[in-house]
This record gives sequence, structure tokens and C-alpha cells, in this order.
Amino acid sequence: MMGIPVVAATSAPRATEASTMHAAGDAAAALLDDVLDYARRRALLSPVPLDQPQPPEVLRRLAGETIVAEGIGARRALGVFEHVLAPACLSTDHPGYLSFIPSAPTKAALAFDVVVSASAVYGGSWMEGAGAVHAENEVLDWLAGEFGLPPTAGGVFVQGGTIGNLSALVAARDAARRRRRGAGAAMPERWSIVCSSEAHSSIASAAAVMDVDVLAAPADADGRLRGDAVAAVLAAAGESVFAVVATAGTTNLGIVDDIASIAEVAHARGIWLHVDGAYGLAGMLAPSVRHLFAGVERADSVIVDPHKWLFAPFDSCALIYRDPAVAFAAHTQKAEYLDTLTDSTDWNPSDLAVQLTRRARGLPLWFSLAVHGTERYRVAIEDSLGRARRVAAEIRRRPDLELVREPDLSVVGFRRVGWSPDDYRDWSDRLLAEQRAFVVPSSHAGETILRLALISPLTDDDLLWDVLDSLR
Ligand SMILES: *Cc1c(COP(=O)(O)O)cnc(C)c1O
Repeated sequence: MMGIPVVAATSAPRATEASTMHAAGDAAAALLDDVLDYARRRALLSPVPLDQPQPPEVLRRLAGETIVAEGIGARRALGVFEHVLAPACLSTDHPGYLSFIPSAPTKAALAFDVVVSASAVYGGSWMEGAGAVHAENEVLDWLAGEFGLPPTAGGVFVQGGTIGNLSALVAARDAARRRRRGAGAAMPERWSIVCSSEAHSSIASAAAVMDVDVLAAPADADGRLRGDAVAAVLAAAGESVFAVVATAGTTNLGIVDDIASIAEVAHARGIWLHVDGAYGLAGMLAPSVRHLFAGVERADSVIVDPHKWLFAPFDSCALIYRDPAVAFAAHTQKAEYLDTLTDSTDWNPSDLAVQLTRRARGLPLWFSLAVHGTERYRVAIEDSLGRARRVAAEIRRRPDLELVREPDLSVVGFRRVGWSPDDYRDWSDRLLAEQRAFVVPSSHAGETILRLALISPLTDDDLLWDVLDSLR
């Protein structure tokens, strides 16, 4: 077997006087040591402080002026960050951070994020970043396989689910336009997207950017969108619809739409099916809930955010197309200085989404998957699901608490019987002030509720029981 060659360190290039800040040398080494030492301490700190925001005047006073003509030096700048700025940022990886969707990067993924920066990889084109793009593609291929998409599927890691949804919908509309043009059919006066009334706000945001309409189909009594509701909306919408969006795990309550029946209805009319799985689609890796996602294999495009339930650091969304050629046609930017790239048949990730310059943001996930193997991911996701079921059972046991619905995934929505919105808010503020947990009120059907979003394997039952106890 051939060994992996070890690259010998080249001697550091000398800097001109004007750019000593780029030079290698003792000062640079000391600076890197300090910064990496902080990163190491923060990453290994257990438990990390939860921390909390501060008003601008407090930060101005505590941090002082840091941007000045002569520079304040690495030590002081790092000190300001460590002692003033970082404590004014919530630790989204804290085991008690249970709001929105928490982050829980593996040590491997977050360490490799540093390497990605140090390597100055440009992830936009094959010419510049072939090695990185190859590794990202291996991850995307693995995900596509898990979702049941064909081996010809492919995609790109973009900044987040919002850009992923927008990019997929732009490709969908472009495909619809081409098809109509090809068939000599007239274009509709307005284009529209059909999605659930429970769909994520980023769908409405994408529609606003694209200047298209959103036709909301009613979710059923359990919050799921089904094919028959989509069919009713499509029947009334005429030819204007270019995409149907199914949600694979709503952010608020983790509800997975009936994707199979939606796919049936959309494809019977030749309409693009996009699956927004930014949070929940990672659940498909877990055997216990995989069946909920039946139909994803028929999607024309899907997204899942590794920075949510796939344990990667911010920011990362895997966007995968059934037929990447359609996305290349929609997104490739044309410019004289880019001709050398666009004339080639290379796989250029830039050309698959609304973006050009891109960080190889799939690499932290690639490294962590390579280090740990895919099985550990399944176990970690099952772990979140098991915790959600235990919390739900405990809520059912407590007379002053009530589940909004049984959790399908790892978000548990519930109410405290008899509490007003103010009670919820005061309780939430107190919990954070006491640095116990970060749980902000949410709402469901016009009612204030609480939700616990369970992602981190470090969130133990003691912490969760303490949160429930504090609701007495
Ligand atoms: C989080 C989320 C998004 C948006 O993703 P960002 O990465 O925050 O832009 C879209 N859809 C769903 C279902 C989400 O949970």
C-alpha cells in the first residue's frame, strides 16, 4: 500500500516591510499559539458557560476602543474577546441551550473548521479547490444515498437553509420556464409556490426575493401537509405553480409532512418537489423514525443543515439536486473573467446556488464523518430522539404540564397549565439569568407554548428535569 506523503514544511517567505503582519516568525507563532490555545480551552471547557447578551452601551464601556491606528496587539484583543465579547454571546453548544435549533459540533468538526481557514481553500471551482470539492462531494453522495436519491444526484454546501431553499426554488422556476419555452407554451403572469401553512419562514422569504406568490395549503389536524390538500390548491392555481415544498421536520414542532402523497400529486402534474429538511431530515439517518420520511427519494431537490442536527459548526447547508444539470443551467454566472471556468465541464460548486465565492464549508462535516464513521451519527441522532421521548413521557406524568403533541423528532412542544404569556417570559428570563438554561417561549395556533429542541448529546436528563421542575 502506498503511504500518504507527508508534506515537508517549506521555509517561510519573507514579508515586505509594509506587510509584516503577514510574515511568519516568532511573533506570528506566539500569536497563533495564543489564539489556538483559547480555541482549545473553549472547545474542551466542560461545562461551557451559557452566557447572555448585553446592551451596546455596556459592551462599549467594557470593551473600550479596540480599532485604533496603532493596533492593541493580539493579547489585548484576545483578552477583550474572551472576557467581554464572548460572554455576551450565547453558547449555542451549551447543553442547556434548548431554543430555536441548538448547535452541537463534534470536536473533530470544530477543530477542522480551523484547518479550513488555515488552508485558504477556495471552494467555488474544481480548478482551484479540487481536493476540497472531492471531499465535500463524497459527503453529499453519502447523504443523497441515505435519502434514497439516485447516484447521479449532486449538490453543494451553502451558507444555510434559507439560501438552500432559495437556490433550489430558483432552479425549479428556471426548469419550468425552459420547459414551457421548449413546448412553445405561454408563461404564466405570476409564478407561485405551494407549501404548507406550517412551512418555514424562509420559503416566504425566497418567494419575496424571487417576486413569486406563495399558496399555502392547509396542514391537517396534526400539522402535516398531505397530497390531497396540495391537489386542491393546484386545481385552483392553474398553470402558475412551479414548485411544491414539503417540510421534513418543522422547526417549531418537528412535524414531517406526508412527503410520499405530496410527491405523487406534484409529479402527476410535472411540478418540481422540493423537500425542506433543514432541521429534520437528519432524522432519516435514525432507524426508529426513518419511515416518517418516505417519499424523500422522489424529491427534485432537498436541503439539510449540518449546523443543526448533523453536529457541524455554523454555517452549513447541504443542498442536493436530483439532476444537478438543471441547477448548473440556472445558477452559473457568466463573466469575462470567469469564462475559463464556465467553458470547462468541471464540477464547480459555485454554479449550483446563489453564490460565487464560497468557503469549503462541507469540510468540517467531512472530517468528522471520516474520523468517527457514519454509525456514530445514527447513534447520536437516536440519542436525541430517545431524550425527546423521555421528556415527553415526563411531561405527560406532570399534572401542570401538557404536551402540545407527541414529538415525532427531537422537538418537544408543551404548555404550563394556567400560565399567561408574561409568566412564560418572566420564567424564561429568570432561567437565563440564573444560567440554568435558554428556553424562549414559542407559539402554536396563536397560543404561547414552550419548546425544547434537543440536539446535543451533552444535554442530560438531570438538566431537563431541572427545567421541568422550575415550571412549578
Ligand atoms: C432552520 C430552518 C431553515 C433555515 O435555515 P438557516 O440555516 O437558518 O437559514 C429552513 N427551514 C427549516 C425547516 C428550518 O428548520
